[in-house]
Amino acid sequence: MQNHSETIENYRNILSKLPPNVELVAVSKTHPAEIIRQVYDEGQRVFGENKVQELVEKQAVLPKDIRWHLIGHLQTNKVKYIADFVDTIQSVDSEKLLLEINKQAEKHQRKIKVLLQIKIAEEETKFGLEISEAKELFLDYLNGKFPNVEIIGLMGMATFTDNEQQLRKEFSVLKQVFDKLSLQRDLKTLSMGMSNDYPIAISCGANSVRIGSAIFRHRNYA
Ligand SMILES: *Cc1c(COP(=O)(O)O)cnc(C)c1O
Repeated sequence: MQNHSETIENYRNILSKLPPNVELVAVSKTHPAEIIRQVYDEGQRVFGENKVQELVEKQAVLPKDIRWHLIGHLQTNKVKYIADFVDTIQSVDSEKLLLEINKQAEKHQRKIKVLLQIKIAEEETKFGLEISEAKELFLDYLNGKFPNVEIIGLMGMATFTDNEQQLRKEFSVLKQVFDKLSLQRDLKTLSMGMSNDYPIAISCGANSVRIGSAIFRHRNYA
């Protein structure tokens, strides 16, 4: 049994630093349900996971009012496992995936909220749509192509770096795209910023941050 007091302390500390308009997605991947439960008991309701199987297992044993966000790359053939309960899929990186989400949502007679993940990092490894692809998808959406999804915003991951100027540049690109698309249809969520860069992301306009290790890490992990 681990001592969770450090996680709770981290959680409270981060919450106290976030501006009131910024949503916290607590990224609980790799951490057991019992620790998630403790953060839940502090009042947190939005959690993020990056793997379908892990998400399904945790969802089964944790309170049903948790709003689960899928934040990692999602394979088309796995959408069906989460379609009946997932709150938001943050990592839409292809039209094929969006079509499948739409199809599975229709099966369950619901709408699934999604974010379009846009590639803003210089690194080659990051998934995401090119800006031009995202604009086209959004246009198709506005024209009614995906009636069972609701595109509520954009998500991006910056390059893993300490270079603040670089981070600002990348986050600002996403903010500009967000503002531009918002002129066509009001968007709610701009998800950018993780443990190492969330204060910068917020100063660049993020209103949702995905924070994992800064909450769940333990000193004895290090
Ligand atoms: C793991 C992960 C995070 C959280 O990263 P931390 O550095 O642990 O805060 C955020 N977004 C995505 C897409 C992730 O996979």
